[in-house]
Amino acid sequence: MRKPLMAGNWKMNKTISEAIDFTKALKSLVADVSDVEILICPAFTSLSAVYNEIKGGNIKLGAQNLFWENKGAFTGEVSPVMIKDSGCSYVLIGHSERRQYFGETDEKVNKKTKAAFSAGLIPIVCVGETLDEREKNETLKVIETQIKNGLAGLDAEQSRTVVIAYEPVWAIGTGKTATPEQAQEVHNFARKIYSQMYKDSAEKIRILYGGSVKPDNISTLMQKPDIDGGLVGGASLESDSFAKLVKYSK
Ligand code: PEP
Repeated sequence: MRKPLMAGNWKMNKTISEAIDFTKALKSLVADVSDVEILICPAFTSLSAVYNEIKGGNIKLGAQNLFWENKGAFTGEVSPVMIKDSGCSYVLIGHSERRQYFGETDEKVNKKTKAAFSAGLIPIVCVGETLDEREKNETLKVIETQIKNGLAGLDAEQSRTVVIAYEPVWAIGTGKTATPEQAQEVHNFARKIYSQMYKDSAEKIRILYGGSVKPDNISTLMQKPDIDGGLVGGASLESDSFAKLVKYSK
């Protein structure tokens, strides 16, 4: 049985005080939730302050990126150890915005994934096709390549723990969601590819859907057998709408 995970990716939004206000509000809205794992991923600057609000409770903390070295002359980067030290248990890796604007390749995604595990963080590895790739019928090929290269070389424990997020690039921040059927097709395929790599782990890992997830479309997505949660951008920025997503089954 895979426990659903609802993850909010705040991207480059919210000052420290805004992040604290959000977290206080969310805490009381989801205090009664235990059947869904709740995760928020603020900007680096707010991690510690948010952690002070959530520690000991049912909301977990994640970062949006990391660098694979633990320390050294890498100006502007943040290490896995530092992220763990700020109270995070998760980290997003290979978000399409990082791939598109910051040159993140599958090779870098793989290094970051392994570095996250070495620091005791759970990586959420993002994959997804562009509109052009979908129109050329290349969706499944893209997903296969990103999974095979980005998730290569995990040990048995890591292969059971990693989270994959399928985020069609054409659906991110556009208001266009993949239909539950389109999403299920790719999630099912992703699990099949993963099972070729890590046979016994494929049924254990959670595969999140991301791309214009909103309170009014989450429950039909979550009814699909291979969709185990959401990675949510825009709708995670307001505590009310994120709490509704967390409580999608109520
Ligand atoms: C995201 O940031 O990963 C995302 C899916 O954004 P949105 O929900 O706004 O489409």
